[in-house]
Amino acid sequence: MRRFRLWGIYLWASPASICGLILALPLLVLGAKLQHFDGVLEICAPSCCAQWIRRFGAITFGHVVIARDAKQMVALRAHERVHVRQYARWGILFFPLYLASSCWQLLNGRRFYRDNCFEREAYGDAPSSRSKR
Ligand SMILES: [Zn+2]
Repeated sequence: MRRFRLWGIYLWASPASICGLILALPLLVLGAKLQHFDGVLEICAPSCCAQWIRRFGAITFGHVVIARDAKQMVALRAHERVHVRQYARWGILFFPLYLASSCWQLLNGRRFYRDNCFEREAYGDAPSSRSKR
């Protein structure tokens, strides 16, 4: 039964994971390092691409995490795992919900990225994440 639930979660988040794989494909062709860690596919960009993606340390799409390099992957793993759990909860709805949250923050004079409710949870700022500690 637990295995069924686990596969259901992977299936539910798979549209986002497929987006991540498509985005990672050029990096993989150029020599990105790929590893499976704790149920998540982690892709570290090759050094030749690190400059192109220096605006972020890592980004999550479903069960695929793309990081600028191995150092960023380790440093941001806990944060990105929160996003993996958010994808598991919301599936493909995560994309519009994330965007809606960011737009809502902007409309209310707050920061697009850092005040997004999903980022606040990932950074441990949200009330729901504090109560779980
Ligand atoms: Zn984040």
